[in-house]
Amino acid sequence: MSETTNRGQQLASLHARLGGCRLCLEAGYQVYPRAIFSGGLGARLMIIGQAPGITEKEAGRPFNAGSGKRLFQWLSQAGIEETWFRSTQYMTSVTKCYPGRSKSGSGDRLPTPAEQRLCRPYLEAEIALIDPALIIPVGRLAIGLFYAGQFTLEEVIGTEKQLDGRWIIPLPHPSGASRWHQAESNRLRVQQAVQRIQAKLHFAQN
Ligand code: SF4
Repeated sequence: MSETTNRGQQLASLHARLGGCRLCLEAGYQVYPRAIFSGGLGARLMIIGQAPGITEKEAGRPFNAGSGKRLFQWLSQAGIEETWFRSTQYMTSVTKCYPGRSKSGSGDRLPTPAEQRLCRPYLEAEIALIDPALIIPVGRLAIGLFYAGQFTLEEVIGTEKQLDGRWIIPLPHPSGASRWHQAESNRLRVQQAVQRIQAKLHFAQN
């Protein structure tokens, strides 16, 4: 069996396990058990978000609504076209199931650290099997996977780092409710991140 066939089977098996995963429910966390991700072998770029929102849960695809629109507006400035990305690259998140609304009712709740730990082996397996050359963690929770300790978005957006032979270039969460990326100084940071992504595309696609 070729290495690619083997990896393809492992990825199919991983996706099947994700499709039936009820670990959070079994541990008492009220998630909506439908793992949202997209992509397959051959992807060289990987976007990692925080967790699906309600529109992602309903549509069954990552970054489906306004956040996705803004994210792909940023990426289009790096020369990445949304249809191409969605059909050939990989999108996933720190936790894969919609966590529901926050207790205050203002927005979706953040997955707890325990939920993140439950889901982490899936993400590690996705990264190992897809083996992306460039990872774009989107939002603080996803960025925290690659930046240890305390950090501010101001410190990391617009920077890049290499880890295990991959480039990591973080972006802020593109939610319309976020004021962070709307501040002028932070728009410049997002532009720097976009330029870095563009500069890495050649590397990522070879
Ligand atoms: S969030 Fe992850 S660990 Fe929790 S039920 Fe969904 S797939 Fe399983």
